[in-house]
Amino acid sequence: MEACQICRKRIAEYACDMPKFRIFTRYRETCTPHTVTCDRHICKRCSLTNGNDVHFCKICAKDLKEGFKWKSTE
Ligand SMILES: [Zn+2]
Ligand SMILES: [Zn+2]
Repeated sequence: MEACQICRKRIAEYACDMPKFRIFTRYRETCTPHTVTCDRHICKRCSLTNGNDVHFCKICAKDLKEGFKWKSTE
């Protein structure tokens, strides 16, 4: 089990799904777009969810626009 990368105390249960940027990987003749996510490992307390199995870490959640309805997973 991995520790949460924010509080470093509890066990991480999710990985942050916040998209950071898109990269294009060149593989033979095709370019595949690939979204890189924050991927920070987070525990329940340090994550926010939209109720749709998408989890953001607290740090990314700060960057979200106000009015966006995120709730704590706890
Ligand atoms: Zn935590
Ligand atoms: Zn994040």
